[in-house]
Amino acid sequence: MTESYVIIGDGIAGSSAAETLREEAPDAEVTVITDEGEALYNRILIKEFAKGKLPEAPISIHDESWYDERDIDLRLNTHVKNIDPDGHEITTHEDETLEYDKLLVATGGTPTQLPVGNSDAEGIHHFWTFQDARRIRESADAGENAVIVGAGLLGIDLAAICGAQGVSAKYLMRGNAWWRYALSEEGAEIMHEAMRDVGVEPVFGSGVDHFEVDDDGHVTGAVDPNGEQYDCDWAGVAIGLNFNTEILQGTGVKQDDGVVVDQYMQSSVDDIYAAGDLTRFYDTILGEYAQNGSWGSAREQGSIAGHNMVHGEEKEFRWVSSYSITHFDFPFLSFGHPTIGDEEAERKYSDTEWRRIAFKDGKVVGGVLIGDLSAQSALKKLMREERVVADQAEVLLEKQIDLDDLAATQEQ
Ligand SMILES: Cc1cc2nc3c(=O)[nH]c(=O)nc-3n(C[C@H](O)[C@H](O)[C@H](O)COP(=O)(O)OP(=O)(O)OC[C@H]3O[C@@H](n4cnc5c(N)ncnc54)[C@H](O)[C@@H]3O)c2cc1C
Repeated sequence: MTESYVIIGDGIAGSSAAETLREEAPDAEVTVITDEGEALYNRILIKEFAKGKLPEAPISIHDESWYDERDIDLRLNTHVKNIDPDGHEITTHEDETLEYDKLLVATGGTPTQLPVGNSDAEGIHHFWTFQDARRIRESADAGENAVIVGAGLLGIDLAAICGAQGVSAKYLMRGNAWWRYALSEEGAEIMHEAMRDVGVEPVFGSGVDHFEVDDDGHVTGAVDPNGEQYDCDWAGVAIGLNFNTEILQGTGVKQDDGVVVDQYMQSSVDDIYAAGDLTRFYDTILGEYAQNGSWGSAREQGSIAGHNMVHGEEKEFRWVSSYSITHFDFPFLSFGHPTIGDEEAERKYSDTEWRRIAFKDGKVVGGVLIGDLSAQSALKKLMREERVVADQAEVLLEKQIDLDDLAATQEQ
């Protein structure tokens, strides 16, 4: 009998899984369901579109013919509302049911709304979809002032969009530095300077108490907890993601701030797999469960899931992720899990060059590189090899890392 594979979500995780499934199971039925109106596009590049630097076309990755050519049944604008693991079927918003032998949940997340007054006003943007990017680009084209909230990797994209579009912006941060969980103040200050250079002013010890709106319900300003008011024509909010897991209610699939999967991307319920941003996966490098929201990791998880849906527990997810930012005159890269260390080592090399390495139990678990990314391959290698090297941090902070200078260390 023909096997039937159903994938919910056509982001990079779902789409990679579909590609692998077709390669590994040429005769199977493969269905991909997405509630977006367009097939896979490059979510990483939508910021360049919003900056006004790219037209729409290069952002699309697959058009519908890509699925036709592979005999993959793509359902656009279709929201899955229910999963019945006993009956092995899913139900769409139009009450259509589809049976599956194996199911992949790759539904990612939805941006979290600020829990403050008027946070749903017109002109307040969240940033996840191509549609969001189109709306942000319009606001940035039309407006002169903006407020940005969310001192992390997506917030800085919004700040950079303001910079590129000539929008004068206040970037409201609760703490005293951008991405304070991964960078020290010294490292963050390099980023702050780069923001100021493009007309974005970081405001520390701030945040949003509520938004002000006009009679039409359009945002006109943000008031921070100190009572300071910042006028704006639009606002961008990037304070995190809520995973799209409502459809798992009642299925018995274990969740722990994310869908729990093993290193094979198998959930706690037979024949249900998960991949991409929404997983809490068993990280074979760390030896514990971890999370990661990045493009490369989601692609790899999708591909591993697709493989194992056909072949069983054959391929493990073992991956050092990286996330880079190219908004400024210097590059920025974070890798691994820069916020989970129990020990850090860092050094500043110049006004735009800085490095921080995070260690846990003596092993490299992640880091941040600003200005000079040449250390990344050595550091990622050490991480993959699980070597205990924290006591040799000096070698790892040399401008050029020479792994031969490391004393023989344990590989675990
Ligand atoms: C602006 C921006 C910039 C980024 N920049 C970088 C970067 O520089 N580097 C990097 O590594 N990562 C970056 N990321 C993160 C990266 O894009 C994500 O980690 C990755 O796209 C996650 O892929 P995914 O397939 O897990 O989820 P998603 O891409 O979120 O895809 C999930 C899909 O499932 C659909 N869906 C959800 N629920 C349902 C349902 N019930 N029924 C049907 N469909 C459903 C959603 O609409 C969505 O299309 C960026 C993200 C954004 C938004």
